[in-house]
Amino acid sequence: MGVAALGDRAARQPELTVVELPQASLDSGLDLPGDSTWAIALRRSLLAWYAETGRDLPWRRSRDPYAIWISEIMLQQTQVTTVMPYYQRWLVAFPTVQALAAADQTAVLKQWEGLGYYARARNLHRAAQQVAQEHDGVFPKTFALALTLPGIGRTTAGGILSAAFNQKTAILDGNVKRVLARLVALDRPPAKALAPLWAISEALIDPDYPRDFNQALMDLGATVCKPKQPECDRCPWRSHCQSYNLGIQSEIPMREAARPVPHKIIGVAVIWNKSGKILIDRRRQEGLLGGLWEFPGGKLEPGESLEDCVRREVKEELDIEIAVDDQLMSLDHAYTHLKVTLEVFNCRYLSGEPKPLECDEMLWVTLDEIEQYPFPKANTKIIAALKAAASN
Ligand code: SF4
Repeated sequence: MGVAALGDRAARQPELTVVELPQASLDSGLDLPGDSTWAIALRRSLLAWYAETGRDLPWRRSRDPYAIWISEIMLQQTQVTTVMPYYQRWLVAFPTVQALAAADQTAVLKQWEGLGYYARARNLHRAAQQVAQEHDGVFPKTFALALTLPGIGRTTAGGILSAAFNQKTAILDGNVKRVLARLVALDRPPAKALAPLWAISEALIDPDYPRDFNQALMDLGATVCKPKQPECDRCPWRSHCQSYNLGIQSEIPMREAARPVPHKIIGVAVIWNKSGKILIDRRRQEGLLGGLWEFPGGKLEPGESLEDCVRREVKEELDIEIAVDDQLMSLDHAYTHLKVTLEVFNCRYLSGEPKPLECDEMLWVTLDEIEQYPFPKANTKIIAALKAAASN
């Protein structure tokens, strides 16, 4: 059923009255009744709002668990507008679980290139192989089995099972945490109140329309109850929302004390050989950006010059000697928990047979061939600079 089909049902809903969640229920946490007047009122008002304003998104037109699964993973920590072109391209490249399972990891990461949080793509690939081998290529319909797949936790399983099979499985992603925290004026950061927040999500989910309810909750967080400046004037939960009624919606959810973000300087080598090819290597599977390709290099040590850093890192990583020539560029890049400055040098290969000492493999490639390999975002800027220099 599409969003529009909710319109008739919504039109039949009676007028709503304001019902507050008893604070004792929040503190006891785990036994919120789903048939309370509070839960029923919130459910009805949200579904009626969704019938009017729900977004028409491609994965909402599908009941294919695979397509929905892809959308759920891509939407983790990523906005709909960013996901949209990736989602469309992905389903062309890998239209089925079997196609994804059979693909090479480099092809999978290439499709994901630029979307960030690459562990999602690696886990998706491994999970597709597990579904192909253990479940005949069909996404498991039970919550317990869904949780056995790499990259699928409680909220992702809830999102997929409710969207694909209309199962009554609750969700609690970042947006939903924020909405529910505001709804009850949560007096602590959501990370310190996961059990009560899950209990609220479980209590609220509509037993008859769990698919629409979860989708509506996601829309509410993404389009109305936004992180900054929630648009309470057009919120279906305004009259029930304790943060709104107390005028404290901009202070909720409470934040954990911010940790300082470390900054590292990285020396990067673009190593050319005499045939005009460049040496690239593939990062190990474990850790940040695992499985992606990159230019060799590493962290500047205290007291070290950038040139010495580049030479040392290349020796440690690949066991070859290079000459460090001119600096190509310097660029800053921010990850969630880390900021880096890449100091990039043109280098010449001198001697030694490259060995993958601190990487999975390496390759000599031309500037044209380099496009076939998935690189982290910061490295794609280096490639663009190399291409610009080559065309001048
Ligand atoms: S009233 Fe405002 S703060 Fe409360 S749920 Fe709605 S948008 Fe969020």
